[in-house]
Amino acid sequence: MAKMRAVVLHSAGDLRVEEHLLPAPDSEAVRVRIQAGGICGSDLHYFLHGGFGTVRVREPMILGHEVAGEVISAPEGSDLAPGTKVAVSPSRPCGTCEFCTEGQKNHCENMRFYGSARPMPHIQGAFCDVIDATPEQCFAIAPHLPIEIAAFAEPLAVVLHGLRRVGDIHGRRVVITGCGPIGALTVLAARAGGAAEVVVTDVTDGALQLATTLGADRAINVAKSPRWVQDYVANKGHFHVMIEASGNEAALRDGLSTLRPRGVLVQVGLGSDVALPIGEIVAKEIEIRGSFRFHEEFGDAVEALNTGRIDVAPLLGARFPVAETDAAFKRAAEQTNTMKIQLDFTT
Ligand code: ZN
Repeated sequence: MAKMRAVVLHSAGDLRVEEHLLPAPDSEAVRVRIQAGGICGSDLHYFLHGGFGTVRVREPMILGHEVAGEVISAPEGSDLAPGTKVAVSPSRPCGTCEFCTEGQKNHCENMRFYGSARPMPHIQGAFCDVIDATPEQCFAIAPHLPIEIAAFAEPLAVVLHGLRRVGDIHGRRVVITGCGPIGALTVLAARAGGAAEVVVTDVTDGALQLATTLGADRAINVAKSPRWVQDYVANKGHFHVMIEASGNEAALRDGLSTLRPRGVLVQVGLGSDVALPIGEIVAKEIEIRGSFRFHEEFGDAVEALNTGRIDVAPLLGARFPVAETDAAFKRAAEQTNTMKIQLDFTT
C-alpha cells in the first residue's frame, strides 16, 4: 500500500518524519500533493514547548497549516483539474453551528483547523505529502505564482483578518509592534490598504531592515532606542491604529501610549496575558480588539498574491527538504531569524 511522509510531533522537541499510509480514497475530497509548507509561530510553540497556554500535545500530531501544492484528483464536476496548483486553507468550520450561521466561521464551535491540539483527538495538520481537502478549502493560484509564495496565503489571511478588525485603514497612521512574519506581512497589507504612515518596532535589526524594504516609513529598534515613544506622545498621541504582533507587554504598553484618543489596537496572533494600563485606555477611549485566525480572508489573500497586489517574496527565507525538518524548525526558532522558513515536499 502506498506510503507518504508526515511531520509528526510526539512531544516537545520530539519531531519525527514518519511514513504513514495514504488516506483511503475519498470521492468527495480534493486530493492534493503538498509541495510547500511554511513553519508558523504556533508550530514552533508546539515544537519547542509542546503547546501554548493550556493547549498541550497529548497524542502524536502532524504539524503544519501553511500549505500549497498540486491537485491529484478532485470530485466529479469540480473545476479543479488534476495538476492545478492550489493554496489549501486550513480553516474547516462545520457550517451549521450558531457562529457559522452568523457569519463568524473563525469562531466555529466544531472547527477542525489543521494542526491543532485544542480538541481531543487532535486535529492533524498538513505537513505530509498528500492531504484530502474539501473543494471549498482549495484556491487555485495564478499559473506564474511560485508554490512557495502560494504557501503564504495562510499567514496573509491572518493579517487581512486583523486589518478587517481595524476597519478602514486608508489614510490612517499605523504603528506595528513586532516584525516577525505576521508583523512584516502587516506592513505590506497596511501599505496596500492605503495607510498614510507605517512605523514598525522590533528588537532585531534584521527584521527592521526587512520592514523598511517592505515599505515601512520608519523601523525602530526599541532595544537601542527605548525612549522612542517620546516622538509620538505629544498632543495625546500620534497613531490611529496599532497592530500588536509581538506578544510583548512592554511593546503593548509603549504602543498604547502613542495611540491617539479613540485609537484602535488590534492584537494579532498569540498574545500572552499581560497587565493593561486601564486608566490610560479609559482616558483616551482606546478600543482593544482581538483577532483570531480568519476564514473568508483566505480567498482574499490568494487573490492579493495572484494579482501581485501584495508581494511577499522578500519574506521568503530558507527552504529545507522534508528530511531536514528538524534543522528547519531549529532555524525558524533562532532569535535572529526574521524570515519565513518553509519545508519543501518536492524533494
Ligand atoms: Zn460551525
